[in-house]
Amino acid sequence: MRPKLIVVGAAGRMGKRILSLAVEAGQFDIVGAVDRPDHADIGKDAGLVASAGPMNVKLDSAYPAGADVAIDFSQPAAADKTIDYCLEGGVALVLGTTGLTEKQREKIKTASAKIPVIYGTNMSVGMNVLFSLVGKLALMLGDEYDTEIIEQHHRFKKDAPSGSAIVLAENICKATGKKFPNCLIHGRSGKDALRQKGTIGVHAVRGGDITGIHSVVFSTLGETVTLNHTAHSRDTFAIGALRAAQWLVGKKPGLYSMADMLCIK
Ligand code: NAD
Repeated sequence: MRPKLIVVGAAGRMGKRILSLAVEAGQFDIVGAVDRPDHADIGKDAGLVASAGPMNVKLDSAYPAGADVAIDFSQPAAADKTIDYCLEGGVALVLGTTGLTEKQREKIKTASAKIPVIYGTNMSVGMNVLFSLVGKLALMLGDEYDTEIIEQHHRFKKDAPSGSAIVLAENICKATGKKFPNCLIHGRSGKDALRQKGTIGVHAVRGGDITGIHSVVFSTLGETVTLNHTAHSRDTFAIGALRAAQWLVGKKPGLYSMADMLCIK
C-alpha cells in the first residue's frame, strides 16, 4: 500500500517540487495539496500548478482527512495548524518550514509524544552529513581556530540566519562547550567590532536565486579549514523530505531527525 500524502505549502517553490517528484517516484497516493486561502491558485488542479500534469487533487486551504503523512514546507504561521491536524488524525509529520518560534518547537516536541515527527531545517543528505561532522571538526581543531558561519540564500528568503546556520552553530557549541546562543555574533560592523575569542560569527547573504550555500570557516594564524555545502537546486531538499516521509510512516511516535533516517548519528 502506498502511503497517503498531503503537502502543505503546495503552491510554493518547495511544495511544487515535492509534488512533482512524488508523482515521478510513484511511491505515494497524493490525497491533499494545502495552501493559504487567498492563494491565487486555490481550486486549480495541484498537479497543473506544480507543472506535473493533472493530479485530480485540487489546491485547497482545507486539510483533507485520511492522510498517513504530511509534508509541510510553508510558513511558520501555518505550522501550528499542520501540527494540530496531524495530532487529530494520527498523521506522521515531516516539517521542513524554517523560522519557527521557540513555542512552536516546544509544540513539536509535545506532539511527538503522540505522532512520529521529523523536523529538519535542511533535508539534503549532504547537509545532514555536514551537521554531523561540524562539531567533531571544531573539537579537533580546538580554541585557536576562529569560527565563522556564512550562509547564502535567494532574495525571497524571509528568515535570517537560516535554520541550517543555526543548527551548525548549535552543533559546534554542543561539541566544544560554547554557550549557545550567547556566543553568536550576527554580522559585524562599527568601530568597536574586533573579533572576540570564543565567539562564532554568523553572516547571512541574500541575493538573486541562490538555492542555499553554507560555509563554516575555521581560521587560525597560518591556515584556514573550510567546510562548504552548496545545494544546486531545491530538488535535493524535496527528495530528502520524500525519503523522510516514506521512512516515517509506521514509526512509533517520537521526534526523529534526518540523521536518524540516514543512520549517521
Ligand atoms: P515559498 O514562499 O515559495 O512557499 C511557501 C508556500 O506556503 C506558499 O505557497 C504560501 O502561499 C504557502 N503558505 C503561506 N502561509 C500558509 C498557510 N497559512 N497555510 C498554508 N500554506 C501557506 O517558500 P519556499 O521556498 O517553498 O520555502 C518554504 C519553507 O521551507 C520556508 O520556511 C523555507 O525556509 C523552508 N525550506 C526548508 C528546507 C529544508 O530542507 N528544511 C529547504 C528549503 C526551504
